[in-house]
Amino acid sequence: MPVMGRVKEGVMPRKARHGEAKRWVERVARLQTDECQMWPFLAAAGETPRPVIGRGSHGIWPVTHAVLDQAGRTLAPGEQANHTCDEALCCNPRHLYAGTQQQNTRDAILRGRRNVVSDEMIQEVVRLSATRTVKEISEALGITYWAARYHSRLARKVA
Ligand SMILES: [Zn+2]
Repeated sequence: MPVMGRVKEGVMPRKARHGEAKRWVERVARLQTDECQMWPFLAAAGETPRPVIGRGSHGIWPVTHAVLDQAGRTLAPGEQANHTCDEALCCNPRHLYAGTQQQNTRDAILRGRRNVVSDEMIQEVVRLSATRTVKEISEALGITYWAARYHSRLARKVA
């Protein structure tokens, strides 16, 4: 399983140029492919763990929500975009389904993902745990709440 946040080997994500992120969302929403479509840009709003995109006068929203909306599958309030592919940065509408956080966690456990955390990911948990909640870390890295909690607690003890 590829490490979260790495779009392409050796290629660092860069900031989207004006209008580029919106065009990417429009394109990915129309794609007819089963390949993962990894968000290629740095988050617009600084270091937000989940990629977000401007929503006109409504501030920002997660890129996955924007793609689903563009594909005609607007999420209801309280719903989130869950992944069938376990790639937190993937925005392929075919890999996204509307659900709750509880469903997400349960499905993740059923699929057997995510208590396995690579060394690189542990470093990322440690880095994020300085500023992020456990829930935010688990969502950003696509690991279980429990794995994120375990490693961020460990990080605090060591620090
Ligand atoms: Zn995917």
